[in-house]
Amino acid sequence: MKLHLASGNAHKALELQALADALPASRAIPIEIVSARAVGGMPEVAEDTGTFVGNARKKALALRARLPADAWMLSDDSGVCVDALGGAPGVESAYYAGPQGDSAANLKKLVEVMRAVPDGQRGAQFVCVLLMVGPGGVEQVFEGRCEGSLLPMPRGGTGFGYDPLFVPTGFTQSYAELGDEVKNTLSHRARAWAKLAEWALRSALR
Ligand code: IMP
Repeated sequence: MKLHLASGNAHKALELQALADALPASRAIPIEIVSARAVGGMPEVAEDTGTFVGNARKKALALRARLPADAWMLSDDSGVCVDALGGAPGVESAYYAGPQGDSAANLKKLVEVMRAVPDGQRGAQFVCVLLMVGPGGVEQVFEGRCEGSLLPMPRGGTGFGYDPLFVPTGFTQSYAELGDEVKNTLSHRARAWAKLAEWALRSALR
């Protein structure tokens, strides 16, 4: 089946397609993640609902206007929630350093804000909400979380966003050092995707 991705983020598209392709053969559901570029690009959406689910819903519905009535849309709203910051930047992760959505500036700001926070108090979790909207307005929401902590300085060269700063619990390397293959076995997005795949398998989407 085709899932039209309501996002302009090429990294998310790559990760989601890799997750779809990695489903064990015995449970394989062929899923193609179709970039919003294929239908004229992702419309501008104000991510102003204050929740991952609310923002994900806005993105999916904005793309729906460009697609036939029988299309399936997938949106991903995600972010990093830092314990010492009361859950910030959370739903604001993409715009932490300003409305331009500059991910290098966002990373730099988080490093600076966390500078005074000692080891042992640097807990954080990544959250991913995947939301599917299908024919007739049917909606399904899947959430994944990954617990971990923040490094004092970015490390590693793969992935995107805050990957170089986040070490998942049980590891010593950041998402950006572990690389996409390992990240895709344990990430917040992988965990949300696993729930989506279970649902797709149980329902008629084969
Ligand atoms: P949004 O879902 O478009 O609001 O953007 C989510 C923001 O959270 C991204 O711009 C990244 O800064 C951050 N983010 C979400 N998922 C990841 C991830 O897997 N790795 C690193 N940063 C992420």
